[in-house]
Amino acid sequence: DYISLDKVPVWKHSDTASAKPLYKAHDELNQKISLFRGDITKLEIDAIANAANKTLLGGGGVDGAIHRGAGPLLRKECSTLGGCETGEAKITGAYGLPAKYVIHTVGPIAHGSVGETERRALRDCYYNCLCTATENQLRTVAFPCISTGVYGYPPEQAVEVALKTVREYLEDNPAQMDRVIFCVFLKSDEDLYKSRLPAYFPEG
Ligand code: ADP
Repeated sequence: DYISLDKVPVWKHSDTASAKPLYKAHDELNQKISLFRGDITKLEIDAIANAANKTLLGGGGVDGAIHRGAGPLLRKECSTLGGCETGEAKITGAYGLPAKYVIHTVGPIAHGSVGETERRALRDCYYNCLCTATENQLRTVAFPCISTGVYGYPPEQAVEVALKTVREYLEDNPAQMDRVIFCVFLKSDEDLYKSRLPAYFPEG
């Protein structure tokens, strides 16, 4: 039941509502974006990002699913890394998962209210995961909705940070990445991404 990249379509404007563009249209970048609703642990791609906690030793939500799928060797490798600070990213093998690597990042704890500190930390998560992927020549990466679960970052504010950071990274590093998949789990997040993608990746 693994999902290979050819089963994850490139995002199409026709799938979504229109929104006021915040960036210039750039069709080459648009071809690198997918919106996928489902379990990130099933994706057979170069790397999946994990919304981990500072210990890197496993937790609930997407972190729990990743550790369950990968098996105990993931926890063993993570235990050698000395944890991870908020906004940083650390790469490991993916063991029993179909992806090649897991890039662990720690989102800010928001509990419903965000200021510039939390916004900057969430941006660092996406940015540092993308840099880590590039450093390791990984060309297909999926992100869960970091911090919007137990960590309480309002999803409608998190989506702006996720889309802005990926848009700007791809614009600055167009040759480094083939596909960034926004892997949403909830229908409400799928709707949110559908409504906001056209603002960051407008049609040419
Ligand atoms: P955080 O602690 O960073 O808030 P959570 O794991 O609690 O992380 O939630 C982050 C997001 O991951 C939420 O939108 C949640 O619905 C989603 N999620 C949970 N399980 C999975 C999964 N297997 N694949 C993709 N996303 C998932």
